[in-house]
Amino acid sequence: MRPNRFYNVIRVGPVEVGTYNNGRGKTKHTAACTAPGCGFSTEHRDRSAAELAARTHRCNA
Ligand SMILES: [Zn+2]
Repeated sequence: MRPNRFYNVIRVGPVEVGTYNNGRGKTKHTAACTAPGCGFSTEHRDRSAAELAARTHRCNA
């Protein structure tokens, strides 16, 4: 699932936040939970928004 150009990855609890280039000149920011069975994954235009989503994620897995 992780694009090759994923970089600047941080971990907030079970959630990883990373930045990548979508190959069309656009930088995207994702927050994705690594807990098995959770499936939480969001995409943001702003890094701060992705980090906020990671911090506010309440994992049910
Ligand atoms: Zn989760």
